[in-house]
Amino acid sequence: MTERTAIVIGGGIAGLATAAGLCRTGWRVTLFEQAPEFTPVGAGIVVAPNGVRALEWLCVGDALRERSVATGAAGIRTATGRWLVRTTIDELVAQYGVPAYVLHRADLHRILLDAAQAAEMRTGQRITTVRAGLKIAEAVHEAGAEHADLVVVADGVHSTARAALFPGHPGAAYAGYLTWRGVVPAAKVPLDIPGMIVSWGRGLGFGIVPLADGRVYWFASITGPEGAHLHEDLRDVAARFADWHQPIPQLLAATAPEALLSHDIYHLPTPLPSYVAGPVALLGDAAHAMTPDLGQGACQALEDAVTLAALAANRSVPAALAQYDRIRRPRTQAMVRTSARVGRFTASWNPLLAVLRNALFRLLPTRAYLRASAAAFSWRPPPSIDTETTHKVVGDV
Ligand SMILES: Cc1cc2nc3c(=O)[nH]c(=O)nc-3n(C[C@H](O)[C@H](O)[C@H](O)COP(=O)(O)OP(=O)(O)OC[C@H]3O[C@@H](n4cnc5c(N)ncnc54)[C@H](O)[C@@H]3O)c2cc1C
Repeated sequence: MTERTAIVIGGGIAGLATAAGLCRTGWRVTLFEQAPEFTPVGAGIVVAPNGVRALEWLCVGDALRERSVATGAAGIRTATGRWLVRTTIDELVAQYGVPAYVLHRADLHRILLDAAQAAEMRTGQRITTVRAGLKIAEAVHEAGAEHADLVVVADGVHSTARAALFPGHPGAAYAGYLTWRGVVPAAKVPLDIPGMIVSWGRGLGFGIVPLADGRVYWFASITGPEGAHLHEDLRDVAARFADWHQPIPQLLAATAPEALLSHDIYHLPTPLPSYVAGPVALLGDAAHAMTPDLGQGACQALEDAVTLAALAANRSVPAALAQYDRIRRPRTQAMVRTSARVGRFTASWNPLLAVLRNALFRLLPTRAYLRASAAAFSWRPPPSIDTETTHKVVGDV
């Protein structure tokens, strides 16, 4: 039979993972990325056990382990340093079979880019709109239009293609807080940091995540008006956390001002009515951007990519996409809601809520804390695909 063609819009984690999965299952893939080239971006990223299994399915488990550090030793502290919850890597592995991995976002990007090397990469080409026909879809860019049997929309939280396909949808909304992020070089890391630590104050949070090569990734969040981060530099951030427990002030002092990243947090609180329009599927933040409070945005994008590639391997496009929407929409939309709720609860300025939150977490047994992540972490990929048979398209099964 003739080779089936797919266009992927966006070369972030969702787009690259989908391109890798579709190439692996016999599709001819063209990926459009608006940036002129794939440049190393961002700070650290945590890949939870469900994301690890998705990467295994994409055959990049070894590459992940080479460039990251296995983690599971994690804890929550108050601003003064009192421990509320602590877990060990053994407890995480006992419950989920695999640990979480932490790596620099640029390394995850590189791993996925290598895995998708069979795809044709068209960088510096922005897709301006998408049209869904009955059997074929069209992606339009400045120089013309491209057609394919399947178009995958993975152009992020402010997706242009989503707006074209669902003109009545209000799109992304400011989630009510912003983040700063930084990576401290190994030579400047003040202490041996035992694992991932998140510390909570009133309206503020601070996370510390050791990377594989001795560097440390940190993130800070604060509730406040949209755009507030534009008026603050590293000195202002350090002043906000000056009386927090160590090594927070030390890490901020060791961060290079030019390495500071700051962003407003956006999500998609109004659920999309479908992740599918004709032969077009939406994935990742374009479909279900969530706040970072569960650390699941990229992991869900990886789950989307693997699910779509597995379903599209040996089904017709309409059958695969109907199933994709049925499987992925309820799960990810529930996560968008939960993540926003967790964010509101943990980052409240309300002193009473902060006391309640701390008391609740101090009383929570570690097992219950780990179990709370079960809905996300327990995900399993579809059975492995026999690539010999994937060119044979059959009806819905
Ligand atoms: C502070 C913070 C911390 C986070 N930490 C974690 C974590 O630890 N673990 C986790 O799982 N998740 C985490 N996330 C979430 C995660 O970063 C996102 O969910 C994930 O990166 C989304 O990937 P994506 O590919 O869908 O979108 P994006 O990364 O936004 O990629 C979209 C791509 O599409 C391109 N593009 C956009 N428009 C067009 C166009 N019209 N034509 C062509 N190309 C286009 C863009 O240039 C970009 O390359 C975090 C998020 C934040 C904000």
